[in-house]
Amino acid sequence: MTDSLALTSLHKDTSHQPADELVLCRHCDLLQQLPQLQVGQEAACSRCGYLLDMRQKDPVLRPILYAFSALLMLVLSNLFPFIGMNVAGNSHYMDFIDTSSVLFEEHHQWLAVLVWLFIQAVPALCMLAVIYLKLGMIWPLRGLVWTARVLYVLKPWSMVDIFLIGVLVAFVKLVVYADIALGMSFWAFCLFCLLHLRTFQVIDRHALWQSIAPAPQPAAMAMAGRNGISLNLASCSCCTAIVAVEQKFCGRCGTKVVLREPYSLQKTLAWLITATVLYIPANFLPIMETVSLGSSIQSTIVSGIILMWRDGAYPVAIIILLASVVIPVLKIAIMFWLCYLAALPGHKRQLLSTRVYLVVDWIGRWSMVDVLVVAILAALVRFDLLMGVYPGMGALVFASVVITTMLAAMSFDPRLLWDQRQQKSAEGEGG
Ligand SMILES: [Zn+2]
Ligand SMILES: [Zn+2]
Repeated sequence: MTDSLALTSLHKDTSHQPADELVLCRHCDLLQQLPQLQVGQEAACSRCGYLLDMRQKDPVLRPILYAFSALLMLVLSNLFPFIGMNVAGNSHYMDFIDTSSVLFEEHHQWLAVLVWLFIQAVPALCMLAVIYLKLGMIWPLRGLVWTARVLYVLKPWSMVDIFLIGVLVAFVKLVVYADIALGMSFWAFCLFCLLHLRTFQVIDRHALWQSIAPAPQPAAMAMAGRNGISLNLASCSCCTAIVAVEQKFCGRCGTKVVLREPYSLQKTLAWLITATVLYIPANFLPIMETVSLGSSIQSTIVSGIILMWRDGAYPVAIIILLASVVIPVLKIAIMFWLCYLAALPGHKRQLLSTRVYLVVDWIGRWSMVDVLVVAILAALVRFDLLMGVYPGMGALVFASVVITTMLAAMSFDPRLLWDQRQQKSAEGEGG
């Protein structure tokens, strides 16, 4: 049903924007009139500042070219040596795929699969989805709605940018002990990373969905300047269409539409408690084991940071301290505070808390840096008895902490922060 919906709209002018188009902010629930945008312009929510829509130059050709070039670079990243290392006359080269395959051989299958998904499978699928969706603007293709839904589910789990920082951290760690050589694949990967980021910069969720199928506009009862909840309207969590809640499913993408995420606070709290509990063993279990000339050192996250600080690698120590300690702890604490605020009657911190939520939601995935550093070191430092790095259980447990905090942020419905203000103003109007 959703396919036919996409097909009927294929030959519509994709740059067309209805003059009186309404949007409902996904973060603060304010219904507002979307201004007529020119190429290069963006529209932000007038209340919380969240980006609502933008008009890109060449909205079809540019994303296809960026995504195709990115895919080409990903293929090249897998064809040549990635990084080489020379210790006391012994050389070892690793390939890009070794970051997962070595973990797999070392019986860390779960970690191997996660790393492979984060840096190869998910980014590649995202690029394929972008190409398919944009080709669907030129030719009648099936399954555009389904592809766009998959794209936005996968997007937060693509971690190529974080992997690149991980590679740089691994360099700084190793350059003290060995000569490092960068292979052809490393440069291809850097380009892949840039092109992948650029692809997402040149597509906008609202505009992309408008080009797949125009959003069904709400009836005359919709009034700009009011909250969606007071009009029984909800923003579709997938395609941003405004849907009357009695419809239950979005007319454009078929996603179930609810006024507020059911049990949002309970789900968020459950994920947060899981993350807090997991964070304890993640700090005590060794994240990796370094074997050097027969002696073995097991390091946890904190002992690794202290070791790097003593070695004088201050920038790396600070990056890992931020990524593995400060960000996860702050994220968990802030998410608890947001849950408290959402349940607190009459709080006045709507704007601050929504902005904090947006930052925390964005920054959380960067905590994965240390796990990816372990994957890189385990793949690269392989010199039998001379020197070797092996992943520890702590890496998998810490990866689970990062994933659960990401799920906590995804379960949280920021509109709850604005609801009490809405209730108060409604009471005020009534009285
Ligand atoms: Zn807003
Ligand atoms: Zn939808």
